Amino acid sequence: MKMFTSKLLPDVALIHAFTCKTSHNIAFHVGDNTHDVIQHRKTLASTLNYPHDRLVSMKQIHSDKVVAVTATHHHKAPVTCDALITNEPNTPLMVMTADCTPVLLYDRHTSAVAAIHAGRAGALSNIIANTLTKMAEQFHSDSRNIIAVLGPSICQKCYEVNQDIYEETLALGYDSAVMCKAQRYFLHVNTVLVQQLQECGVTKNHIDVMKHCTACEHHTFFSYRAQKGNTGRQAGIIMLRSSLS
Ligand SMILES: [Zn+2]
Repeated sequence: MKMFTSKLLPDVALIHAFTCKTSHNIAFHVGDNTHDVIQHRKTLASTLNYPHDRLVSMKQIHSDKVVAVTATHHHKAPVTCDALITNEPNTPLMVMTADCTPVLLYDRHTSAVAAIHAGRAGALSNIIANTLTKMAEQFHSDSRNIIAVLGPSICQKCYEVNQDIYEETLALGYDSAVMCKAQRYFLHVNTVLVQQLQECGVTKNHIDVMKHCTACEHHTFFSYRAQKGNTGRQAGIIMLRSSLS
């Protein structure tokens, strides 16, 4: 099973990974057989060694909504939001993507984590700032102690957008995230996200952007654009280990 991990996130304190097609589809909402998806999720949990029955996932709605979860959240009831945060160990958080950016955060001082679903809509509504604000409120997180990892997602040349989105992105001040070429418009969501992280106080050397494009590499990754909407989802997972384990 092929996995992608970041050297910035510590193995001792955390379990984390980004999956690809070798872990199969892990989403229930894309038409796959439910029993197959459950089996894919169980195999992933045993491979990464986290408790399958504690996994918290989201019903992702392309919003800026952030929810703090505790160990009492049941894995069979996904939370309607686009970012999950927790400071509880043994509570794996999962984001599902197929071109959108999965973002994992780790506060190395207060031991809190986040899993964020950031597509165009979430990025332009600044779900990054919302998540960092909520981590500060709930866990007293300081952005200077946050490590951020942006997992495999769509690159700029694969992500053509319409003129309205191009102009909205410019109006929001993310000039370096857009490109206009022969009256076609392209957006790089990761450039928006990195700018937001830095504006919130996350330092450059604490940000890891994985270079894999899900659409360029659609034989490896699920890609909504490259597979014209008919595709599964890969996972970004993060969990604080218990100090006892
Ligand atoms: Zn690409």
